[in-house]
Amino acid sequence: MSFVLEHMRDNLWRGKFSLLTEELCTHGLTGRLGGVSQTPYDSLNMALHVGDLPEAVWQNRQRFFHALGLKAEELVTPEQVHGDHIERVSRKQAGRGAREYSDSIPQTDALITDEPGLPLMLCFADCTPILFLDPEHRAVGIAHGGWKGTVQKIAQKTVLRMQQEFGTRPEELLAAIGPSIGPCCYEVGDEVAGKFRTAFAGHDELLQQNAEGAYQLDLWQANRVQLLDAGLTDEHIDRADTCTACKHQWFFSYRADGGKTGRMAAVIALNKY
Ligand SMILES: [Zn+2]
Repeated sequence: MSFVLEHMRDNLWRGKFSLLTEELCTHGLTGRLGGVSQTPYDSLNMALHVGDLPEAVWQNRQRFFHALGLKAEELVTPEQVHGDHIERVSRKQAGRGAREYSDSIPQTDALITDEPGLPLMLCFADCTPILFLDPEHRAVGIAHGGWKGTVQKIAQKTVLRMQQEFGTRPEELLAAIGPSIGPCCYEVGDEVAGKFRTAFAGHDELLQQNAEGAYQLDLWQANRVQLLDAGLTDEHIDRADTCTACKHQWFFSYRADGGKTGRMAAVIALNKY
């Protein structure tokens, strides 16, 4: 298994997991280079809700999707609210949120589909993207795991929902945990630490106390733990192990960029066959 940043064209890069096989799906995680947005959204900002010019975001989305061989006009994206609602989408929702934020799938933090060619997209700046591929039942998904989504176990709930909707067997499901803030840079206070201790009893490795007495939280491991609990096998879970704050010259980071910044996107679509 590997996670690599691959150059596509014109300084446009995509994060790519070898686990999510290209015969079945097309996917990519954006970096921050190769777009048209100006500071502080420089330059490949993929989100409409952060104050950037909508025309710039649309150009960025078109560039990235075109390089992936997908149609930006058809992408489906939600209004993300750090909740645990999961929406199954189909061709009927194609284009929702593509040009207008107000048209996004409301209050949703994970999308799943078995519709070939329909690109799912979620936006991130430090939160954890989790991408799913069921190679047997031909279905894909993306979940948004910030600390709130992770403590609500949105990744695990997405697995369960794929089981219900598509007949997915967890032991066959593939999952990839994308670039996001790492335990190196993610300090949390007692309240958040307490919620993780309750939600992940027995997993003390998720929180390391630092010299200041606060805690360093490991969202990558917290998401891996819930995928294992949901029945995925260890060899079907890959992690980028790439910290967006440490590497914010490559990725947008809400914390390292001082709060006002762009968003990266995680995109996945089932191939047409
Ligand atoms: Zn870091």
